[in-house]
Amino acid sequence: GTMTVGEVAKLFHKDASELIKKLLMMGVMATINQELDLDTIQLISAEFGIEVELKLPVEEDPFEMDEVVEDPENLMERPPVVTIMGHVDHGKTTLLDAIRHTNVTAGEAGGITQHIGAYQVESNGKKITFLDTPGHEAFTTMRARGSKVTDITILVVAADDGVMPQTVEAINHAKAANVPIIVAVNKIDKPEANPDKIRQELTEYALIPEEWGGETIFVNVSAKSRTNLDELLEMILLVAEVQELKANPNTTAKGTVIEAELDKGKGPVARILVQDGTLRIGDPFVAGVFFGRVRAMVNDKGRRLKEAGPSTPVEITGLHEVPQAGDRLIAFDDERKAREIADKRTITLRESELNSSSRVTLDDLYKHIQEGEMKELFVIIKADVQGSAEALKGSLEKIDIEGVRVKIIHTGVGAITESDIILASASNAIIIGFNVRPEPAAKITADQEKVDIRLHRIIYNVIEEIEQAMKGMLDPVY
Ligand code: GDP
Repeated sequence: GTMTVGEVAKLFHKDASELIKKLLMMGVMATINQELDLDTIQLISAEFGIEVELKLPVEEDPFEMDEVVEDPENLMERPPVVTIMGHVDHGKTTLLDAIRHTNVTAGEAGGITQHIGAYQVESNGKKITFLDTPGHEAFTTMRARGSKVTDITILVVAADDGVMPQTVEAINHAKAANVPIIVAVNKIDKPEANPDKIRQELTEYALIPEEWGGETIFVNVSAKSRTNLDELLEMILLVAEVQELKANPNTTAKGTVIEAELDKGKGPVARILVQDGTLRIGDPFVAGVFFGRVRAMVNDKGRRLKEAGPSTPVEITGLHEVPQAGDRLIAFDDERKAREIADKRTITLRESELNSSSRVTLDDLYKHIQEGEMKELFVIIKADVQGSAEALKGSLEKIDIEGVRVKIIHTGVGAITESDIILASASNAIIIGFNVRPEPAAKITADQEKVDIRLHRIIYNVIEEIEQAMKGMLDPVY
């Protein structure tokens, strides 16, 4: 908080020479470029009989002000944004394609569908947005980067198969993000389909069908023969209605980058989901840390748009650099402001890269607990066999050290994968590998994301290590 003599003079509407004279009388030798501290500025303002009010600079980074409280009067209903997750081969891609094609309205029939990372369909006159990057990596990567894009998860489970490891993973990803789940029991056209068996198996994961007195909506579908897709869409709208999804279309846009790449012809393109406000051609914006100005916008039907409101996916050009999936995009009224924020964010990003201490590790766990920041330690367990994972889970959940407990957010069998790292990173969890190791790619991501991985072969050692860490008695590892 310092200003130069020249700046203070300007602020006081005085000549710099007058200021320098006063300073001299106070015993301070100063030149016009000399920096004055707050105390001196206050003293000198008293000399001039000027009242100054000290205001600490307010950091007004709109990227940090996600939860802006809107006047309810400005809010309007917006379409839900849906992600499809589930085990490989259970039919995610087929379902996404089927929904997209059953829903081409007459006027758009000729339109060339464009892959822009998401698409919109209509059911009973209401829109629904689907992220069409199936798999939970995209979903969780976005969350790891601080952007919540999904309102509802469709969990696809094949009725001729059952609950599989990635089904469980998907459930845990959705739960960690607090996103409601609708279960689509797929492939019911198959003779060996047994949709009730799926319902039964999922009760173990606290997904109890409504028809059995629970709260989860299940819909039997066939993506292949396009059975019951309308019902699925209706259920999505029902869940959306309960959530009361709203946004203010009459403000500058905020959104999230779903995908971005360097296109040979168009330059950097970003596929974004507008989440609040309306994005217009010509709008200056910041995506991640990069400044841009919307040059062109195309929707999923290949149509050029002049503006895009809440929950609309669009592909935009007009960036100078390629942002990352999960980056926030914020538009501004004024280009100078946008450039200023982009510069500031570049600096903050560099600083946070240097100082990535916010991620929890066992080594600094005690510090977090002491500071009262943590009541629960989130843990992901990967083990060689299910039995060990369960045993470890049971033992760890019994730990209670002065009110701090362990919460297991995911268990699985097999090597530690990139998906585990991303879930850990998004949920600020540590990972315990029991008789398993991280895959090479997972190791690289863990280093980047600063996720703490602990490898063990003896259950007792795991428990001891966690207890010691909670008590601040862990020997540092070198
Ligand atoms: P993904 O890995 O979850 O995206 O699964 P896909 O959509 O690629 O589907 C895997 C396989 O299951 C493909 O051969 C699909 O044709 C088939 N499939 C998907 N949905 C259905 C369905 O409803 N019925 C039948 N019989 N096959 C399906």
